[in-house]
Amino acid sequence: MKKEKISIIVPCYNEEEAIPYFYEEITKISKEMSKVNFEYLFVNDGSKDNTLTILRDLSKKDKNVRYISFSRNFGKEAAMYAGLKNATGDYVAIMDADLQDPPSLLPKMYDILKNEDYDIVGTRRITRTGEPPIRSFFARLFYKLINKMSKVEMVDGARDFRLMKRIVVDAINELKEYNRYSKGLFSFVGFNTKWLEYENIQRVAGETKWNFWKLFLYALEGITAFSVVPLAIASIVGLIFCFIAFIMVVVIIAKTLIWGDPVSGWPSLVCIIFFVSGVQLFCLGISSQYLSKTYLETKNRPVYIIKETEKDNK
Ligand code: UDP
Ligand code: MG
Repeated sequence: MKKEKISIIVPCYNEEEAIPYFYEEITKISKEMSKVNFEYLFVNDGSKDNTLTILRDLSKKDKNVRYISFSRNFGKEAAMYAGLKNATGDYVAIMDADLQDPPSLLPKMYDILKNEDYDIVGTRRITRTGEPPIRSFFARLFYKLINKMSKVEMVDGARDFRLMKRIVVDAINELKEYNRYSKGLFSFVGFNTKWLEYENIQRVAGETKWNFWKLFLYALEGITAFSVVPLAIASIVGLIFCFIAFIMVVVIIAKTLIWGDPVSGWPSLVCIIFFVSGVQLFCLGISSQYLSKTYLETKNRPVYIIKETEKDNK
């Protein structure tokens, strides 16, 4: 029987310090799993350090190392997409370069897909040690919110680290949207997922590429990509305000008829105007979010642009 192949996709953005450690660990595991072949597909997401040089060297040394190098930084989502589209394995895994996704889980994940009735083995971290508390707080809040608003289930703490069968990868590659929110896309395609849990691990080297603002925008991305509830909220708030306005008109007419019409209430009027225009702008903002996403989708721009691959380095 032909040996099966596992592709490991590794998005890398300024990871010159972490890649050597990662490569060492993953090759150790691959030696343990001698029944399968491995392909390592590094995606250099426009790094400004020596990541590309390291990848070139690795691919010269090891024929199982492939790489794709982008023309600029397109973001982790784009890197994962490029990896999924170019991976050739029967099984595909996505892993961070910083060893926060323990390669030691791979043999177990592969066994599960081989012997049990699952198509995807995902991982989720059950602790968030080492992370700023405020970041954990907002992350939890985000998962609560999005699970209320979206039909697609998002698992709190789920990592992008997962091993998938080829059929799942093909299904994901069919989703060609520009605004990619992978956690949602993975749930959207369905299939049977088994979750492995582990404690959070800190980065081996280098620094996190995410700051609060980037994460906030990413969260908005997730909400607009997988829920239209905010649009409904905007309409409902509008309706409620119309109703309140109607009651106020009735009350004021009644008051005037009964007690006459002394001119007063200027401050309250100003407050109401401010408040209502705030609500209007907020609701307009919500619909603009969706409009802007639609705008980007209709342009049909590529999600990433490749400048170099290992084939150019022969
Ligand atoms: N990454 C990427 N492009 C980016 C940002 C990050 O390819 O624009 C990669 C990064 O190199 C790493 C993975 O995505 O392999 C996860 O990033 P990071 O460890 O900074 O995120 P965290 O683990 O802190 O959430
Ligand atoms: Mg990390």
